[in-house]
Amino acid sequence: MNIVLLGAPGAGKGTQAAKLVEEQGLCHISTGDILRAAVKDQTPLGVKAKGFMDAGELVPDDLIIDLMKERMEQPDTDKGVILDGFPRTTTQAVALDSMLSELGRPLDAALLIDVDSEVIVTRLTSRRMCRECGNIGSAADGETCLKCGGEMYQRDDDNEETVRNRLDVYDKSTAPLIDYYHGKDLLVKIDGDRDPQVVFTDVVSALGL
Ligand code: ADP
Ligand code: ZN
Repeated sequence: MNIVLLGAPGAGKGTQAAKLVEEQGLCHISTGDILRAAVKDQTPLGVKAKGFMDAGELVPDDLIIDLMKERMEQPDTDKGVILDGFPRTTTQAVALDSMLSELGRPLDAALLIDVDSEVIVTRLTSRRMCRECGNIGSAADGETCLKCGGEMYQRDDDNEETVRNRLDVYDKSTAPLIDYYHGKDLLVKIDGDRDPQVVFTDVVSALGL
């Protein structure tokens, strides 16, 4: 099964993806995680991407498409992928269609996790992430990762100004993909403004898992 996750930043895509991986053994590909690792390691990609990410802007399509072509060719994608943070523009969606058709693997669904933008601003500005394992938590959980004991930190792009810019970018560049996938009869919409476990129950039934 190959799935695209759609939804604003902070809608809960990463959380739902982690649950799908745990229960369905799908291969989770998060372009945000790949880019953050590249920035941390100061690879050529990371050096090019950092400024865009800190400003809440999209990294240019050609960089992302090259990155994803390489990633999709790795053998662990055989068992099916859950794409989190890609595609984010129509150009990327068209590129994904041709990658998948070359690999002979059709897309099964585009899952939209729908959350109101004011809810998102509150969620993201209080969001914390583990430096060691990437676990997502909230400022209210304290400074230590509940999973691995690592340090919880605030992402550079989770301040209010950058969050508002990311939401604008989402509305302009990524929201049109909702129509794109609706037109292909692949869109599945889930109300994301509920407890993550309740959202997941809906995801599982919507995907017929
Ligand atoms: P979120 O969904 O919380 O905004 P991500 O972790 O998916 O965050 O992405 C963080 C940043 O990485 C984005 O704001 C953007 O700069 C960059 N990025 C990630 N995926 C893409 C993509 N497919 N195209 C362009 N930029 C991307
Ligand atoms: Zn951790």
